[in-house]
Amino acid sequence: MVRRDEASAPFFDALARGELTVRRCSDCAELAAPQSRACPVCSATAHEWTVVEGSGVLVSWTVRRDRGGEILAVGGIVELTEGPWLRARLAIEPCRLSAGLPVTVLIERRDGEEPVPVFTL
Ligand SMILES: [Zn+2]
Repeated sequence: MVRRDEASAPFFDALARGELTVRRCSDCAELAAPQSRACPVCSATAHEWTVVEGSGVLVSWTVRRDRGGEILAVGGIVELTEGPWLRARLAIEPCRLSAGLPVTVLIERRDGEEPVPVFTL
């Protein structure tokens, strides 16, 4: 999960505007996940933020349950259509989860908290 700091502030500011963004390397234009600290291809740290469509496919997921089997949280890794992988909460029933499942983002806003991307069907 991405937390707000100086580096990720533009990511959260974009979410607040209703836009999901990823990093685009200033040197080679490769796209990288929001939490990346450097370009995965050329290791440059200079980057801009670019808006992505907000769709992708599910790569993997975990379901956290309490002792009674009640679901506490469902989280996963989504491969965005543009390429980068994003770790996020899933608003999808666990029985429907499968690798390669097409998902789309919605932006969850709660009072007093940063907006976060959540993926749904
Ligand atoms: Zn690069």
